[in-house]
Amino acid sequence: MNGHLIEWRDGRWIVPDDPVIPFIEGDGTGPDIWRAARRVFDAAVEKVSGGKRKVIWKEVLAGEKAYRETGEWLPESTLEEIQEHRIAIKGPLTTPVGTGIRSLNVALRQKLDLYACVRPVRYFRGVPSPMKEPHKLDVVIFRENIEDVYAGIEFRAGSEAAEKLRTFLESSFGAKIRPQSAIGIKPMSAFNSKRLVARAIRYAIERGRPSVTLVHKGNIMKFTEGAFRDWGYEVAREQFADRTVPESELASLPAGAGGRVVIKDRIADSMFQQVLLRPDEYSVIATPNLNGDYLSDACAAQVGGLGMAPGANMGDGYAVFEATHGTAPKYAGQDKVNPSSVILSGVMMFQELGWNDVAEAIIRGIEGAIADRTVTYDLARQMPGATEVPTSGFAEAIIKHLL
Ligand code: NAP
Repeated sequence: MNGHLIEWRDGRWIVPDDPVIPFIEGDGTGPDIWRAARRVFDAAVEKVSGGKRKVIWKEVLAGEKAYRETGEWLPESTLEEIQEHRIAIKGPLTTPVGTGIRSLNVALRQKLDLYACVRPVRYFRGVPSPMKEPHKLDVVIFRENIEDVYAGIEFRAGSEAAEKLRTFLESSFGAKIRPQSAIGIKPMSAFNSKRLVARAIRYAIERGRPSVTLVHKGNIMKFTEGAFRDWGYEVAREQFADRTVPESELASLPAGAGGRVVIKDRIADSMFQQVLLRPDEYSVIATPNLNGDYLSDACAAQVGGLGMAPGANMGDGYAVFEATHGTAPKYAGQDKVNPSSVILSGVMMFQELGWNDVAEAIIRGIEGAIADRTVTYDLARQMPGATEVPTSGFAEAIIKHLL
């Protein structure tokens, strides 16, 4: 069977029963976790559709395997395949030390304009957590993916460029910058901030989520982070006036939010306290790049760590789903590590494509395996009495509990 292409028409996915989806298995432990994940995906699709649907997986190369087979770390054909197929899923890749090697994520982000990094963080009952009530955290973080200090516009301390920029800023704007300073630029535009927040609001509306919180450091960085907050409220007013309500206007409404998504904002440092102390007051979070980087790992730690945290880089009509941890090279080829991060990335992928039945079956499978206490080493070492199983054994346990 050859399968058919997933299409994107009028802002919607058109998904055939036999979609072709490219995958990158990844380096280090990548092949182990990908093999396990693929078995779970295929079993779930087969089970819920009675064999009517089937994903046609298509391997594309990146990282060490690509280098071994083609002499390139990131062949152009991989980028083209992902562009043609619109959706892809990947395991972790080694970041080779050295210069001149393109990062797959950066290359894809630029080619496909993947402006949102989306990270859902929720608790699975039974997973060891440092929190007393970890189930209270259930957030989806939308992190701006292109701008902010991550834009990579930096000038080395003492370089000619840094000195030129410093003198220009001093002479033209009276900025005081110590000589020999390194300088980084933090660009943030209304265009990118607004489309990120719009995406987060649309997600909240479609999934029945109660609020979107804009997390910023606008009290200090008024024209960048502060503007992000203002643009966020603006886009809610301009595009979703009848579906949203600012938190500040809630008190004046007779029936509370009345099914509308509440738009809140929080200063970034206070938000780190909030997700620890009052996690159930937050649902969808939209934030600039650097805040989102820190916040998503901090939230993941609350519910059991990065081993259980999925993610995706998304644009309009393109999405690449990925495990959020690295290659854990010391366990490579040992059939040992936890495949949940890439499996949960698959759950996100099926949800995005509208195959919610498949996504729900997989979640039931993971919940069942954890409730049975048949888990990989990372969870077993923190769960007294648990049975440690290999990566492949965990996949089998998930499949056993699919329905
Ligand atoms: P790492 O691969 O994430 O591993 C760090 C530790 O996290 C492991 O030793 C292990 O802890 C735990 N861990 C990671 N994945 C796990 C899994 N699936 N199940 C259970 N435990 C898991 O981080 P790293 O060693 O710093 O990075 C290794 C390579 O990965 C580097 O080349 C890095 O650049 C790359 N990387 C790639 C990505 C990506 O492609 N998205 C992301 C991050 C890093 P214990 O030792 O406690 O068992």
